[in-house]
Amino acid sequence: MRVVVLRLGHRPERDKRITTHVGLVARAFGAEEMLLSGRDSSIEESLNDAAARWGGTFRLKAGVSWKGEVFRWKEAGGKVVHLTMYGSNLPEVIDEVRSCDRLLVVVGAEKVPAEMYDLADWNIGVGNQPHSEVAALAVFLDRLFEGSELSREFEGGLKIIPSAHSKKVIGSHQSKPEDGISP
Ligand code: SAM
Repeated sequence: MRVVVLRLGHRPERDKRITTHVGLVARAFGAEEMLLSGRDSSIEESLNDAAARWGGTFRLKAGVSWKGEVFRWKEAGGKVVHLTMYGSNLPEVIDEVRSCDRLLVVVGAEKVPAEMYDLADWNIGVGNQPHSEVAALAVFLDRLFEGSELSREFEGGLKIIPSAHSKKVIGSHQSKPEDGISP
């Protein structure tokens, strides 16, 4: 399934860290791209840097019109999920969502425009309590991919050798694990 994340309403003065984390979660948990309504060069740098160092093909497209992207996505036959604490609770709808093959997942920052609720094919709550777009996105993607995203390989970057007691990281051109690297 193709999954793209749309981050709506990013406020450069308040949301830098959390929007960066939305992007890191999108990449690590199986989305192929994040669309950012608005521009923020520090986020673009952080996410492009993470993708370059850690491999894979994740992309960031900033400065998009959220409504334009949603319309284009739907016109091309894709479905849209909007994560909101007011929506249908995730376990009730995730099997239905899993049956589509192109999914745009929208997460908000400031108050989300009412129109988004109408444009979405599903408004989904990850539970119906307020928490965070980072947590909502991580849990949603994990349920969507049923955990398979945690074993995904990212080609062409640093690689962690899982270890119970030490840090082991190999670079793309190194053959042996090294201890004590802090990437
Ligand atoms: N007050 C904002 C509003 O009325 O839409 C929400 C702010 S909340 C901190 C930011 C984003 O986190 C929301 O737009 C939503 O995408 C996500 N979020 C927070 N709690 C959620 C939940 N229980 N389920 C799904 N998404 C949630």
